Amino acid sequence: MTDASSLTTEALAAIGRAPSEDDLARIDQEYLGRKNGQVSRLLSNIAQLLPAEKASLGKAANEAKRAIEAALAARRAELETARLADLAETEAIDITFPGPPPERGHIHVLTQVRRQIETVLESLGYQVELGPEVETEWYNFEALNIAEGHPARENWDSFYFSKELLLRAHTSPVQIRAMQRIKEPPIYIITPGRCYRRDPPEATRLPYFSQVEGLAVDKGLTVGDMKGTLLYMIQSLYGRDRKVRVRPSYFPFTEPSFEFDVSCGICGGIGCKSCRHKGWLEVGGCGMVHPQVLRSGGIDPTQWNGYAWGFGIERMAMLKHDVDDIRLFYESDLRFLEQF
Ligand SMILES: [Zn+2]
Repeated sequence: MTDASSLTTEALAAIGRAPSEDDLARIDQEYLGRKNGQVSRLLSNIAQLLPAEKASLGKAANEAKRAIEAALAARRAELETARLADLAETEAIDITFPGPPPERGHIHVLTQVRRQIETVLESLGYQVELGPEVETEWYNFEALNIAEGHPARENWDSFYFSKELLLRAHTSPVQIRAMQRIKEPPIYIITPGRCYRRDPPEATRLPYFSQVEGLAVDKGLTVGDMKGTLLYMIQSLYGRDRKVRVRPSYFPFTEPSFEFDVSCGICGGIGCKSCRHKGWLEVGGCGMVHPQVLRSGGIDPTQWNGYAWGFGIERMAMLKHDVDDIRLFYESDLRFLEQF
């Protein structure tokens, strides 16, 4: 029969080696279990013993029980300390560790193109002028030599708030406001901004779009000055190999009036599918400022003259990046926008 002291030695050794709480529970059961625990079994034959032996065996069994209980408690505490230390190691939050970088957007392609145009013209001494998008009929039409009943008004089918107020159909009203404000030429301004016309959205036009117009008022300006300015602008934006041409046209606010084209960047002017075999791409309109328009701005046309031009920023961006549908610029599709 195993004696109490060797049982204790054996149990303590097992406890010391136990790698986990589960193992300790198993050892607890094995030695101290009430029915089949080794310490309990030690006492199973006690009935046949002499009274003196009973007492000493009982005492030894109790001592073994206490020693094993104490060892179990100590080992449990040890394992718990190790578990917490391990947890501190593996689940610690390192607040100095850099987080995932936030995604950065970039400037919209239309804003990029507008800023490029502004930069080029500012380098020639032009200043940016802004004006209201809700205009009076007078600034939007009359001041620009488009009287009521003028057939050209059909080209600017507009959104009206009342008989007098409308969303501007072009940025030309800003030219009048600038002349009235500056008063004394020389005046060299550009007027970037949003315009509105009652056109259904399609691949080449939208009911809202952005324009940049330029106005120069000085002494003795010529069509050559105007064409030189347009050529410098186009070559700065599209490259030195591009050419500019002007074709006679009609606008109420300029006389003479022209359309201006840029040579096709794909075929170099020979003609290709992109330019519909013309070799040229239409950009905008231009001309020498009509004397009536100078008068609307408070400028004496016998003393001063001027030239002006205008085009859509979307159109410039389409030409620059070979985009064939203007609606893409406003659909906010990141797959499209991220290309620029
Ligand atoms: Zn071409």
